[in-house]
Amino acid sequence: MNTDRRRISIVGATGSIGTQCLDIVQKHTDKLRVLALAANRNVDLLIRQARMFDPDVVAIADRSCTQALRSGLEGTDIRVLEGGEGVCACSTHPEADIVLGAASGIAGLKSVLAALEAGKVLALANKETLVAAGDLAMRTARLHKARIIPVDSEHAGVFQCLEDSTRYVEKVILTASGGPFRNIDRTALDSVTPQQALKHPNWSMGAKVTIDSATMMNKGLEVIEAYWLFGLREDQIEMVVHPQSIVHAMVLFEDGSLKAQLSLPDMRLPIQYALSYPDRWPLPEGRVDWARPQSLTFAPPDLEKFPCLRLAREALAAGGSAPAILNAANEAAVDLFLKERIGFMGIPRMVEGALGKLSGSSCNTYEEILQVDQSARHYVHEASKRNTLAL
Ligand code: MG
Repeated sequence: MNTDRRRISIVGATGSIGTQCLDIVQKHTDKLRVLALAANRNVDLLIRQARMFDPDVVAIADRSCTQALRSGLEGTDIRVLEGGEGVCACSTHPEADIVLGAASGIAGLKSVLAALEAGKVLALANKETLVAAGDLAMRTARLHKARIIPVDSEHAGVFQCLEDSTRYVEKVILTASGGPFRNIDRTALDSVTPQQALKHPNWSMGAKVTIDSATMMNKGLEVIEAYWLFGLREDQIEMVVHPQSIVHAMVLFEDGSLKAQLSLPDMRLPIQYALSYPDRWPLPEGRVDWARPQSLTFAPPDLEKFPCLRLAREALAAGGSAPAILNAANEAAVDLFLKERIGFMGIPRMVEGALGKLSGSSCNTYEEILQVDQSARHYVHEASKRNTLAL
């Protein structure tokens, strides 16, 4: 047996990033071994994954699923844990070389912070962590000498261009596909349905991030994510609409040289690079076909049509609790939109309302961040009941 295999712990194993990560493990069983798998409540898939990859431990966040998980793994020696502590036990497993933080939304925050406290190498796919708790997460990482390697494709692109140094960097430019509504009229956005918003032209992703791409809040969150990940000033982070999603990010250096990372839109590359870094492993599928004519186009984003971009920048500039409010109000509003309780443009209206109404509270500890998160969610639910900002 190869003992040099990197041992990975996957939090969010049954989601889009988690399952793609397991695809990669399967292709590189000589290099990777799954040590722990944690999921929220998709117990059937977690059982299948555990039987296939034989981790030491699995955890299910939703305790009502524990019994089903135990019965599903009967006859194996896989340890079964439950609840938030169980998930954190996976993200801090003493033998884990790399922890993939791929739980969606604020729910992933605790286990990510725990991994950083344990000084882990964290492959981070959960951008909400850095949006809501960027300062706390980066402080924790520094204090415990943890390392964060971005999995988000744009940030993985920046990471590959930077080669470990932000010296001489003038700007970082993140690309955005523009989402499914890039070409539709601004007034038509009021009446788009969840089904339309869930049809992303290029990327296959979970529901939350797909809606965020349609509102372009995703790019706003990514600006905040880049701010923390790379230690840049807000005015050093730009975004550009690039509908082909081949260029994921560019770095502009002080002498005007521009470096870009290009690849087909497939999350397996950034996931794999986070696991192989600083090495590169073969990933045979997915090449840009230069034997065919290609056009790569770029245009500035329409800030009028996509107010979420402006709101995210304003929240980053305001600092303090504003990014956590933005993140929580957006998560709650996206959820209501998916349940058809509010309209598409209700999402930015809710977020703007929450930012205007709540602010100024302290946001330095995990408890304070959760408090801010809860009050923003509460605000959105109350506003949707009153129907003031919803439609
Ligand atoms: Mg991204």
